[in-house]
Amino acid sequence: MAEKKITAEKLQKELCYDAEHAMTKQMSDAEVKKADKFAEGYMSFLNTAKTEREITTFMEEKAKSLGFSEFDKSKKYKAGDKVYRVQRNKAILMAVIGKRPITDGVKLAISHIDSPRLDLKPNPLYESEEIALFKTHYYGGIKKYQWVTIPLALHGVVVKADGTKVTVNIGEDDKDPKFVITDLLPHLAKEQEKRTLEQGIKGEELNVLVGSRPFKDEKGANLVKLNILKILNEKYGIVEKDFLSAELEVVPAMKACDIGLDRSLIGGYGHDDRCCAYPAAEAVFNVKNPAFTVVTVLTDKEEIGSYGNTGLTSAYLPNFINDLADCFGACGRDVMHASECLSADVNSAYDPTFPEVMEKRNVSYINKGVVITKYTGARGKSGSSDASAELMGKVRGFLEANNIVWQIGELGAVDAGGGGTVALDVAAHDIDVVDLGVPVLSMHAPFEVISKIDLYSAYRAFLEFFKLK
Ligand code: MN
Ligand code: MN
Repeated sequence: MAEKKITAEKLQKELCYDAEHAMTKQMSDAEVKKADKFAEGYMSFLNTAKTEREITTFMEEKAKSLGFSEFDKSKKYKAGDKVYRVQRNKAILMAVIGKRPITDGVKLAISHIDSPRLDLKPNPLYESEEIALFKTHYYGGIKKYQWVTIPLALHGVVVKADGTKVTVNIGEDDKDPKFVITDLLPHLAKEQEKRTLEQGIKGEELNVLVGSRPFKDEKGANLVKLNILKILNEKYGIVEKDFLSAELEVVPAMKACDIGLDRSLIGGYGHDDRCCAYPAAEAVFNVKNPAFTVVTVLTDKEEIGSYGNTGLTSAYLPNFINDLADCFGACGRDVMHASECLSADVNSAYDPTFPEVMEKRNVSYINKGVVITKYTGARGKSGSSDASAELMGKVRGFLEANNIVWQIGELGAVDAGGGGTVALDVAAHDIDVVDLGVPVLSMHAPFEVISKIDLYSAYRAFLEFFKLK
């Protein structure tokens, strides 16, 4: 009897795996339309809330408007209740109480809302040859040469000695003035151009231009600086010494916009990690009567190692889960052990212009959906939490069951560099965790690029994770 011939094509279909562009098979035109629609809300958010403080306020207000109330650990909660807690103005936790006992664990989506930027130094304002400037100290991993000759805005707070707080936001309104860091003209850059790219613009050259007209008087020195102080005093009631107790952040002033003739991409500042924060927040806002208690955490300080009491190495996350457990007479330790977390952070997308730092079979690609990153780190996975095969299988399972476009992603080729996320800080609390987020082009640049389809896939992933039974 002759054996039935199996063709290579059929066998390949059964056995082989290749991630495809979401639109090849998986996503219908109707789904792509939904992704485009979702992107509109995201872009408006990008233009509204740029810093950790602004995003915290934005999310607190939105949560309140959707029926979330401030978490009170002395209260008794029941399934369907919605609560939030703000951590020192720069991070927020938002939860919906589930139907299952809290000891079954909570489902967490944790994203960070700080982005690379330039912070003003404590004593920033000076004048040189009748030009007034701000000294800055960059925050997070930036390529310094990218931050010159682009329009910049100033966001933050100034706290006066009497405790009053002034909120600053200059450069976002079309009528506002903007700021800029100057660069040398090519005609005179012969020596500068011999510098390495890393040294092309040095840290102490990131000085922000803030003015050039003097306070009019025949006598007196530094009158341009004085005039700037006068303007600030009239607008905010502050004096130079108040800079010492301020947090002022210089960020790109460009608005988010569609990129490409097909409008498939979004260009904007701080996709890392607002492109995960926004969908993670939308998921907790839109989940209905979840089985598990679900928690979205938007945290600060990830870009500088998650240190500080608003970063995830702080106790504020376990404190919240412990308080939640207490409400149900449960032990927080048991809740954390049973919990699962999607560490919602971006990964590097394959860039055809720079293929040498990517390993093509394991890098993530624009438009191939949400990216699961099993491990990050550098030099042999150091500094990574390295998710287990068990969790990988589970996450893959619910993504596939819900037809969510996903792909695997490694942060570049082995020994090409590396990086990390909050995953290891979450894992430190005995919570099962894996990174899941959106692939980004030009990550950490003042103007980063993501795909609308990937953004939407991330939203669907967080929502379906929260809907697990
Ligand atoms: Mn990130
Ligand atoms: Mn980052």
